[in-house]
Amino acid sequence: VAATRTTIRRIPKRTVTDRAQMEAILDEGIVAHVGFVHDGAPFVMPTGYVRDGERLLLHGSTASRLMQALAAGADACITVTLLDALVLARSAFHHSMNYRSVVVFGRATPIEGDEAKMAALATYMERLVPGRWDEARRPNRKELAATMVVELPLVEWSCKQRAGPPADEPEDMAWPAWSGIVSLALHAGKPEQDPTQSPKKPAPGHVAQWQPNRRRA
Ligand SMILES: Cc1cc2nc3c(=O)[nH]c(=O)nc-3n(C[C@H](O)[C@H](O)[C@H](O)COP(=O)(O)OP(=O)(O)OC[C@H]3O[C@@H](n4cnc5c(N)ncnc54)[C@H](O)[C@@H]3O)c2cc1C
Repeated sequence: VAATRTTIRRIPKRTVTDRAQMEAILDEGIVAHVGFVHDGAPFVMPTGYVRDGERLLLHGSTASRLMQALAAGADACITVTLLDALVLARSAFHHSMNYRSVVVFGRATPIEGDEAKMAALATYMERLVPGRWDEARRPNRKELAATMVVELPLVEWSCKQRAGPPADEPEDMAWPAWSGIVSLALHAGKPEQDPTQSPKKPAPGHVAQWQPNRRRA
């Protein structure tokens, strides 16, 4: 099989080919970094996203350069990274990080028409915080007009993962430096009600129980 731009060349044993694993990483992530070239210069912009089946949905202001470039069909590279641990080896060289990451290449298409845009925004909000769309005020005409939504097909992707303890050289195993991993994870804190809101009320279940890895597309 010929190598493509999604073929992982560096440490290929870390390649993940299972689509379900790749999708689970996208479903746990919240922020993507979108790379594209605009007027000859590279940009890598952080932005929110959700996976909806076999596409990624991104949205933003119609005034955003990122959204305009995507809507115009720019060749894009979208990366999602979940950082799982610092890997502290005996040797400086073998220090590393445990992670799960996905790189998606492709061109986005704008979602046109008020109805389709509204549906895509509902999907976006429901994937990010299930239960939220029914509670929030829906976008009005002006807000809808000011918002661009694009979809990008999940076709050309790669997925890479490092897990486990450090991988030191055999001759370093007796070196006295502490060796191991420090795990890292994104957790939702206790919800804090807007101080300007009254009456005070507890957060609803969909807020109180929200965790990044509990979402499902
Ligand atoms: C949290 C984190 C920390 C990292 N720290 C370092 C570091 O300090 N130094 C370092 O050299 N590398 C680090 N990496 C790995 C880095 O992402 C690259 O995989 C590596 O540098 C090889 O780059 P390359 O251009 O030679 O990749 P190649 O293997 O040539 O890439 C070919 C193709 O493989 C795919 N690919 C490559 N890397 C990834 C990836 N991470 N996720 C999904 N698809 C991928 C892409 O489709 C890419 O086009 C880190 C990764 C993560 C997620």
